[in-house]
Amino acid sequence: MTTASEPPTVAIVGGGLAGLAAALEAAERGLRVALFEQSKTLGGRASSLFDAETGEWIDSGPHVALGCCAGLLDFCRRIGAGDAFEPHRRLHFIAPNGSRYDFAPWQWLPPPLHLLPGVMGLRFLSLGQRWAIVRGAMRLGRKPIEGKAEAGSAEDAQTIGQWLRRHGQSDRAIELFWSPVFVSALGETVDHASLPAARQVLVEGFLGSRRASDLLVPRRLLKEVFHVAASRRLAELGVTIHLAARVERVIGDCGRGHAIILPDGTAKQFDFVILAVPWQRVRSLLADDLWNACPALQGVERIEPGTISTVHLWFDRPITSLPHAVLLGRLGQWLFAREGHLQVVVSAAHRLIACDPEELQSRVGEELRTIWPAAREARLLHARVLKHPAAVFSMQPGVERLRPAQAMPIGSLFLAGDWTATGWPSTMEGAVRSGRLAVDALLRQVYSSRSA
Ligand SMILES: Cc1cc2nc3c(=O)[nH]c(=O)nc-3n(C[C@H](O)[C@H](O)[C@H](O)COP(=O)(O)OP(=O)(O)OC[C@H]3O[C@@H](n4cnc5c(N)ncnc54)[C@H](O)[C@@H]3O)c2cc1C
Repeated sequence: MTTASEPPTVAIVGGGLAGLAAALEAAERGLRVALFEQSKTLGGRASSLFDAETGEWIDSGPHVALGCCAGLLDFCRRIGAGDAFEPHRRLHFIAPNGSRYDFAPWQWLPPPLHLLPGVMGLRFLSLGQRWAIVRGAMRLGRKPIEGKAEAGSAEDAQTIGQWLRRHGQSDRAIELFWSPVFVSALGETVDHASLPAARQVLVEGFLGSRRASDLLVPRRLLKEVFHVAASRRLAELGVTIHLAARVERVIGDCGRGHAIILPDGTAKQFDFVILAVPWQRVRSLLADDLWNACPALQGVERIEPGTISTVHLWFDRPITSLPHAVLLGRLGQWLFAREGHLQVVVSAAHRLIACDPEELQSRVGEELRTIWPAAREARLLHARVLKHPAAVFSMQPGVERLRPAQAMPIGSLFLAGDWTATGWPSTMEGAVRSGRLAVDALLRQVYSSRSA
């Protein structure tokens, strides 16, 4: 505990992007910060792992962002990794018959018209379907008549799939245009993703500005950014980083700080705690009195996870010159290629497949061989399937009601995590924003108690 003249102490539990963003913000704003992370590296879900067979590090999944992810870009710049993501303006769509269609926003047209030529160039859809998409996008992009869709409103209860069908979108346009747009961003199929969440993705990620839809692809391994660069910068700012330090329990009385309990029973006292762990872990970490004092937490256990599977294939040669591609009408939705190493992503895999890793690998491999002749001739050196059952939370209708704000009624306890109320889906951007929001709320608490 600190005296009134000393800066307050903050324990941050969880070193994913939410915890890292909170630590950066808190340390830059003069708080004394200790970060506790149960694994040996920082980054949480956005991390890298070693593949013993190839002797290469690979990422937990290809983590891409969009040009509109201002919070993430700002965070990277502040940890000295401003070049972590490479912007790509042009997307490459591979139609079901294997033909390629490039999609790029026009620089000379104001938003949202800058997307018009790109959509009209998607000739695997009929002219009527393309015009219907343009009309649908304009309509969806408009704010709902009653203003922002409130949690619990009629809008919040609908899926984007229902809305699209009611607004003249054909099955083919949904399968080959709308699904690819939404499934990766929301971690859900259009028949399970909420309408307001889909609108947010469309408005912020596509319609809002010319660079909003740029695809940001990591230039290097996630661990280089979210472990190496982040720990270096946080250490410079005086943050104490405890790795391999699982917090067992958070205890404490209302308004007078908290103790965090480590597995060996050690108790460490702090003025404030920011809990930046995944939503499934919150209940077990909080002592019963803290849990019961936070009604907003009662819904979090009903937040459902979403699966992302990534199929890694190492061929003895490159099979495409494209760095990435959207695969339409297939099980694999996105391809990322670096030389002969291909990564194929299946988002919302919990809805789409129940097959074992071998079957997934063989289906994805078959799809690639159908598209690229080089994949038929190349020798497969190694394959690995990474299945992450709780990669994201599912943006289903009604989920907004279950997402708590970062400030809790107990003035010294705060939350961060992509699953808290950020207005964003389960993404790096959402995580970073939540960390910042948590520190904003914490500082409001500090100033209000000092002025009282
Ligand atoms: C395969 C995959 C692909 C993805 N693709 C994308 C993408 O393309 N774009 C995108 O924006 N997002 C993507 N995501 C989602 C993104 O990774 C997450 O939204 C984001 O990283 C969540 O950050 P977080 O800090 O909220 O949670 P986490 O990263 O889960 O961090 C929580 C941390 O808390 C730690 N922790 C838990 N319990 C304790 C404890 N008791 N004591 C101490 N520490 C504890 C955990 O070890 C973890 O490090 C993907 C995720 C996965 C898994």
